[in-house]
Amino acid sequence: MKAHDGMYIGGAWVPPAGDAGTIAVVNPADEEIIAHVPAGTAQDVDAAVRAARAALPGWAATAPAERAAAIAALRDVLAARSDEIAETVTAELGAPLALSRKVHVGMPIVVAGSYAELAATYSFEEKAGNSTILLEPVGVVGAITPWNYPLHQVVAKVAPALAAGCTVVLKPAEDTPLTAQLFAEAAHEAGLPAGVFNLVTGLGPVAGQALAEHEGVDLVSFTGSTAVGRKIGALAGGAVKRVALELGGKSANVILESADLAKAVGVGVANVMSNSGQTCSAWTRMLVHRDRYDEAVSLAAQAVAAYVPGERVGPLVNAKQQERVRGYIEQGVAEGARIVAGGPEVPLDKGYYVRPTVFADVTPGMTIAQEEIFGPVLSILRYEDEDDALRIANGTVYGLAGAVWAGDEAEAVAFARRMDTGQVDINGGRFNPLAPFGGYKQSGVGRELGEHGLAEYLQTKSLQF
Ligand code: NAD
Repeated sequence: MKAHDGMYIGGAWVPPAGDAGTIAVVNPADEEIIAHVPAGTAQDVDAAVRAARAALPGWAATAPAERAAAIAALRDVLAARSDEIAETVTAELGAPLALSRKVHVGMPIVVAGSYAELAATYSFEEKAGNSTILLEPVGVVGAITPWNYPLHQVVAKVAPALAAGCTVVLKPAEDTPLTAQLFAEAAHEAGLPAGVFNLVTGLGPVAGQALAEHEGVDLVSFTGSTAVGRKIGALAGGAVKRVALELGGKSANVILESADLAKAVGVGVANVMSNSGQTCSAWTRMLVHRDRYDEAVSLAAQAVAAYVPGERVGPLVNAKQQERVRGYIEQGVAEGARIVAGGPEVPLDKGYYVRPTVFADVTPGMTIAQEEIFGPVLSILRYEDEDDALRIANGTVYGLAGAVWAGDEAEAVAFARRMDTGQVDINGGRFNPLAPFGGYKQSGVGRELGEHGLAEYLQTKSLQF
């Protein structure tokens, strides 16, 4: 596959500053190396941050309508190149092409469009009594993204940052740098001024850490594991810089007694299996009333049969994630959960595939009910009554997403209000690019998407009259 051998800094592809070698990009579906990208160092990060700082005064001073037009142009380039981007996501992440087209490319195009509109309509000035409040860009943003939604995670940070008037340095995940390079090409083609967007590929503990630590970065926006998020939060706290963290989840799909069980189970299984379970907001715990439990388990086992590895379900992103997920499945068995579909065996000779797995008889204290597995693994838990369901739903360190199903919408909403989580879909509610996304508890700090996502990149100044 086509790859750049440099970094995108100050509006041009430039050779890496150091000699840290390259990172091999592997297709997880067949384990073949498809490209190499440069492994950036602290020197590359420094050059990129300088370029972003130099571009900041000019970009921050542009009229919102001009920034809106630039984001709309970027959206249009992404849309025009969507086939190429989808093929690249499939090659480096392993997602089936239909999923890449619809979700991995379709969703970020919608999100970019939403920020083109918001930049044009948002009020960057407010009045309060005898004050005028100016909402000004935070400054230079260091964006560190994961591999699970390679384009979406980039757009969900870069589009609002640009809308706010910030400039950006992106360090994408080492598993999916090719999609990030295509994004940089799109930013260039859309005519973003030099230095407004910069890309440094490289390893997390090297380039990522250098970016998080750099004193020229005013805000670090990170999405990924809780372990790394903690480190970045501590670093940012020490340096008194802003930080946004989108971390893991263990979201509950609560099926109340009055719900349409077949629909709730079917949508719930699809939600977990999509993207091979590599979704931080996936509803990986299904909570079912004891009277309907056995029926739900057999419905889930039937539903998961449609998710054939290599066809409807792609591989995991790399061998390490495959081993990690298989380890969790073995641990579930060891702790007494009952496998009703799938299991730890590798389903195909080639590729980092895992069998889509459904566990029954999962109790709230089990490891598979507490930790983020990040694979196609669903745990079904039994509850006695609504208070018990709420205790279980709220009984993890996470609080990113969730779902409630009930015969009556008001009943579902009443339950959702009591959940400690950042998003809840009511009876299968649709994705909304304007809905703030982010965590309660250890799922993170801050929000992405919509106006709340834009506000992350703004700071306020009050003028008194
Ligand atoms: P990770 O947190 O290591 O990687 C995410 C990003 O952080 C990558 O760009 C990486 O290069 C960078 N990074 C790593 N170490 C860093 C450091 N010390 N300083 C700065 N940046 C650093 O995640 P992973 O190892 O790819 O995945 C492990 C687990 O994380 C998964 O199994 C899953 O549970 C979770 N995860 C969550 C999300 C999410 O969307 N919330 C996404 C990916 C992974």
